[in-house]
Amino acid sequence: MSFSAEAAWRALGGVPDPEIPAISILDLGIVRAVSCEDDRVAVTVTPTYGGCPATEVIREDICSALQAAGAREVAVTVQLTPAWTTDWLSEDTKARLKAYGIAPPATRAGEPQPLRFRPRIRCPRCESARTEQLAAFGATACKALYRCLDCLEPFEYFKPI
Ligand SMILES: [Zn+2]
Repeated sequence: MSFSAEAAWRALGGVPDPEIPAISILDLGIVRAVSCEDDRVAVTVTPTYGGCPATEVIREDICSALQAAGAREVAVTVQLTPAWTTDWLSEDTKARLKAYGIAPPATRAGEPQPLRFRPRIRCPRCESARTEQLAAFGATACKALYRCLDCLEPFEYFKPI
């Protein structure tokens, strides 16, 4: 019984990010490589943030999704370089983040940012640019906590890294 890479990618597309269930781990771009040999599958992932506690959850979710799809053995390798960057998020994924209530990264991670310049973070609910940062870290280190000065709703901002 062999297992195809297509079947593996399909199964991985059904694995949600543990922190943002609205997007899959493929949307996040953390799956770097998939290889299949008979019914054994090897997956290489680059976690979003080095110390992200979600990495273990993702590893287990990948194993169970692939086993449910018919893989007999699953090996998940964590690759730390090149480091994951929010630049790997597709426009479609950013739109889905916004629909979920999280402001997507406003700048590219590689862009030099002048010290005094803070990009305008738009409220994911009402599009207002009148927002203020409440805390540099939200529920997770990868997000900052903002508040909209128009609709007064707090929201999370996915920081570019
Ligand atoms: Zn708002």
